[in-house]
Amino acid sequence: MTAEKPFSFKETPGKLPKQVVPTDYSIRIVPNIDKLTFSGTETVTLSVRNPVRQLVLNALELEISEASFDGKPLPKSAIKIDKENELLILALPSEVAAGDHTLALSFSGKINQQGQGLFYMHYQEQGSPPVAGKKIMLGTQFEATDARRFFPCWDEPVFRARFQLTAVVPENWLAVSNMPIETEKNIAGGKEVRFAATPPMSSYLNVFVAGGLDLIESRSWQTQIRVIATKGKAELGRYALEATAQILGYYNDYFGVPYPLPKLDQIALPGGFGGAMENWGGITYYESALLFDPKNSSAETKQNIYEVIAHEMAHMWFGDLVTMAWWDNLWLNEGFASWMGTKCTAHFNPQWEVWLRRELPRDPTRRVGIVKEAAMESDARATTHPIQQRIATEAEANSAFDDITYKKGQSFLRMLESFLGEDVFRDGIRRYIAAHKYSNTTTTDLWNALSEASKKPIGEIAAGWTAQPGFPVVRVKRGGDEKVRLTQERFTVNFKNAPALQWKIPLTYSIVGLPAEASAQAGASAQAGEAPATLLMTGKTATLQNIPADRSLKLNVNGAGNYRVEYDAASWKLLLEALPKLGVEDRVNLLSDAWALVQAGRAPVSLYFGLVEKLPASTELAEREQIINVLDFINRLFVNNPEREKFQRYARSLLRQTFETLGWEPKEGELPTAGNLRASLIKALGDLNDPEIVAGCRERFEKYLVNPASLAPDLRSSVLAVVGRYADEKTWSKLHELGLKTTSNEEKQNYYNALAESIDPTLVKKTLPIALSDELPTSRALFIVPLVARDSGRPDLAWEFAKANMKTLLAKTDAVGANQYAASLFTFFCEDSRADELKSYAKANLSPASAPAVAKVMDEVQFRAEFKKRLAPQLNAWIDGKERR
Ligand SMILES: [Zn+2]
Repeated sequence: MTAEKPFSFKETPGKLPKQVVPTDYSIRIVPNIDKLTFSGTETVTLSVRNPVRQLVLNALELEISEASFDGKPLPKSAIKIDKENELLILALPSEVAAGDHTLALSFSGKINQQGQGLFYMHYQEQGSPPVAGKKIMLGTQFEATDARRFFPCWDEPVFRARFQLTAVVPENWLAVSNMPIETEKNIAGGKEVRFAATPPMSSYLNVFVAGGLDLIESRSWQTQIRVIATKGKAELGRYALEATAQILGYYNDYFGVPYPLPKLDQIALPGGFGGAMENWGGITYYESALLFDPKNSSAETKQNIYEVIAHEMAHMWFGDLVTMAWWDNLWLNEGFASWMGTKCTAHFNPQWEVWLRRELPRDPTRRVGIVKEAAMESDARATTHPIQQRIATEAEANSAFDDITYKKGQSFLRMLESFLGEDVFRDGIRRYIAAHKYSNTTTTDLWNALSEASKKPIGEIAAGWTAQPGFPVVRVKRGGDEKVRLTQERFTVNFKNAPALQWKIPLTYSIVGLPAEASAQAGASAQAGEAPATLLMTGKTATLQNIPADRSLKLNVNGAGNYRVEYDAASWKLLLEALPKLGVEDRVNLLSDAWALVQAGRAPVSLYFGLVEKLPASTELAEREQIINVLDFINRLFVNNPEREKFQRYARSLLRQTFETLGWEPKEGELPTAGNLRASLIKALGDLNDPEIVAGCRERFEKYLVNPASLAPDLRSSVLAVVGRYADEKTWSKLHELGLKTTSNEEKQNYYNALAESIDPTLVKKTLPIALSDELPTSRALFIVPLVARDSGRPDLAWEFAKANMKTLLAKTDAVGANQYAASLFTFFCEDSRADELKSYAKANLSPASAPAVAKVMDEVQFRAEFKKRLAPQLNAWIDGKERR
């Protein structure tokens, strides 16, 4: 592993030559909404560092009509577009000396349907009838490499510059950008809005949004904060506005530098893209990730909003004020914002169990998962990559937005923080921000700041986690004496002959309670006061001393470490006896590790279900959700399998008790997460064909049709999904009609998700074409197909449909999605032949940029095929043995 160097402008990778550096852009854009085009002009001040004969910058799908340099027009022949490399090359009439120069360009471009560059959104205005009342508005999405679709620019993050935007929009529209409006004047055909210039920043952080918008606002510290949404919806931003004020105070303190811009806008977009984007001073969100309707939104939506806001706002410092030099350090941006956002959310909302459970930020299907687990699942496979990876092309930059980048980065930072301590870690972050504000960095700059703060060699510890793929499993062996022998090796799933690797592991461990009979005598007092010990495991083996042979030992305390633990039989037995004394974090960690060991073929399935059956009864959300996720995985794996019915009976028996404790209706004094768990259980039991749950959902749906308030918002998505799953034609049409009618994107999604659940092949064929219509926002419509592939149990029908309509579907996706879409539809197959089919389809039809996604999904399909064969007999034997247990 060669250590990366600290940031240096000259040595930063990228396509653009570094002799010419833009310092100030002044851009004027005039959209033509009828034609879905725009025209623009710009003046760029350039600092030329060495004499040059030509200028090389980025442009994509732009036509350049005029160019001039230092006030002199360039001939047409001097303007060259290199389409493949997304470059604009301007030949200069003679060699230009070092110093300040000016470039002026006139250009025109397209307003796109998908969230790339400048795009449009059609939406229904609040209170207007469906379809007929379709409105249009504009937005932008530039990360990673699409600012060049809006104006010609040095579109690599290291080229920081001040951007001053002017735009012409209809008179009754509101226009928003990174900075406040400086002047506004009426001109022919609308009004011209001039925004103040930004501080020096990377091009991908520019934003422009305009439409028939409303806002609510307040002030927090020195900052004007606003929530902006389409007319009639701004008040639904009240929760987001309050959260923003709270989070701003926390970050101003944490980073040690107050938020640097005069205003911060949180902008709800009714379509265009699915996630959220940290444009400096003007963050964009897909509407349901920002707007909260106290009467109709679920607790899940509320928690998600807080977390997404906390993540995006962390970027205002980490990402925007200090920016990674190149896309090979994207993990630094995303891993950090994910970690910081979760930390902040947990700080203000400890009751949500956010460290244990969290929605995947960019996952369009809103699958609930455990952050670390999602990263570790991908990281155990042959298709994984180091979190720091070489990025040469735009397509590779767009492929870097994956689980490993976001979640392994976050897990590693969390492990490091717990090892160094919160205060030391924060001091390191403050040093880092202070030293690099308004500039760029590499990962090494962060390690240096943390090393200074902690006096520990962070770079050395970190290298194994960031520069090499995968992660370790620590094997625990007890010899009957007081010594515990530890061995580390690489942990893999479905990955034969994986290269052996080694890590410096910041281990934590604790001795849990007492053996069963002694703890019974000691009452409930055991456990408290035994703080976790730490050990930096630097070699292949290590030994823990003085561990009493009769006491149980738990490694990876609270599951904060990014490694698995495999206990020998003696240690496992002691742990099972100590279960009631373990906190929920440690129980979830044991469940996750046990299930991973089963997947890896390191343990039989009885290890996992043996643990589940030994758990004390509880309604703790994260623990029950881990079990629900595993049961759900097996239930999908066994579609069309003879073992499925028997498995479903067993699975229901594991969940039933918890549901009966909770009941259908909220109870006074229940845990704050009870609503989430109740909803998860209804959905899970419904999927497992529980007749009482199915009947209960149908009954509640009938009442809901008459009186929507009769169904608690927390339960709506689950109840509708179960109704949709077993729907007849009439029910399907009813759900569809409700989906068409509502102007709330959150509600709309609930109805369409329910349609995608249907297991009746006739209805599946009715659901799929919705992806081609404009009933749903563009960015959401195309995800109906993967939803059907997953939920209906008919991935074959979904694939047949997508294959026939691929071109239309891909036209609706953004750059990040395009590389993954086709492959993602195969994820839920579990036959080897389908992996082969994907391979040949990709070869004939997909771009090379899709290769990582294709490889990942092929691996997943092959794993499922193998796992299914291995699991079925083991599970059968386990269930048959239940009566004897
Ligand atoms: Zn982010």
